[in-house]
Amino acid sequence: MQNTPTKKTTLKVVILGDSGVGKTSLLNRYSTGTFTGQYKATIGADFLTKQVVVTDWTGQRHVVQLQLWDTAGQERFQSLGVAFYRGADAAMLVYDITDPSSFDHLEHWRTEFLQQIGVSIPALQEVPFPFVVIGNKNDKQNERLIPAQRAEEWCLRVGGNRPLYRVETSAKTALNVDEAFEELARLALQYG
Ligand code: GDP
Ligand code: MG
Repeated sequence: MQNTPTKKTTLKVVILGDSGVGKTSLLNRYSTGTFTGQYKATIGADFLTKQVVVTDWTGQRHVVQLQLWDTAGQERFQSLGVAFYRGADAAMLVYDITDPSSFDHLEHWRTEFLQQIGVSIPALQEVPFPFVVIGNKNDKQNERLIPAQRAEEWCLRVGGNRPLYRVETSAKTALNVDEAFEELARLALQYG
């Protein structure tokens, strides 16, 4: 074990995806360990914070303060605005495995994000930014309409030689929720 001091870092993370995919539920599950099953559009604050300890690819330990930015439901009607995106270090792109349109809209969320942070690129060109793709509601296997394979192909296509990291989660059962946020933090440190 090396005796290097732990580094402290703050990372801003924005959670993107269509209304109803489970963004707020994932944040609640991650930050408070609960799932209500109720539809609540707003959290009443700009962001939640959660501390996580991650070890990067060099073995350096980081205490990371994650600033998790959720939408207040305005993703349905309007752009989220510059302040929401400004200074983001990583983005979570969430779809619902039972809702094909939420999957089709990932490309929109990705390009909207890149435009807002001032990266102008052709839609499918590789961009070195830490996106994590989340297929949520994995507990609803009987209603699955997006095969894992199809999502995997999209991650390969838009990621180029750095395929986007993808994982399926359930805010209801807690499957892979902690893992998703930890991987996001690790990737953000790596790109940062
Ligand atoms: P948001 O609009 O993306 O923030 O989505 P919400 O978090 O408000 O969730 C929308 C609906 O999906 C609510 O009724 C949630 O209870 C439900 N939901 C969210 N995540 C899951 C999940 O992993 N599994 C199941 N079965 N339902 C979920
Ligand atoms: Mg919400």
